Amino acid sequence: MANDCLFCKIIAGTIPCNKVYEDDEVLAFRDIAPQAPTHVLVIPKKHLTGPAAVTEEDDSLMGRLLRAARQVADREGLSDYRLVCNNGAGVGQSVFHLHLHILGGRPMGWPPG
Ligand code: 5GP
Repeated sequence: MANDCLFCKIIAGTIPCNKVYEDDEVLAFRDIAPQAPTHVLVIPKKHLTGPAAVTEEDDSLMGRLLRAARQVADREGLSDYRLVCNNGAGVGQSVFHLHLHILGGRPMGWPPG
């Protein structure tokens, strides 16, 4: 847990969230500013600043994260959806705790802007 991290505070329950999934290692909740009809953030409870902070030690955790995302997408009734994981402010990362965005429910262009 990082004291100055917004998502660590959500994990700790000191900041509320609209939770859609939780297990011992992963939490998923609705984004506060949805960019699609379904917009859920899936995060590891372990504080990692982003994808660049992932090490071999996190191999199993990353598998859990992806499987949780898939489970959430299934529960939300999404067959087509996009998973986004920003690394760095230059591509739009604003919260420095690793997270997958699940975005679905509308058509999307490629490449993303
Ligand atoms: P990033 O831009 O870092 O990839 O994504 C961070 C996401 O966190 C943004 O989509 C933003 O809307 C979301 N977010 C920021 N603050 C909060 C909050 O307090 N609660 C929730 N549920 N989402 C948040």
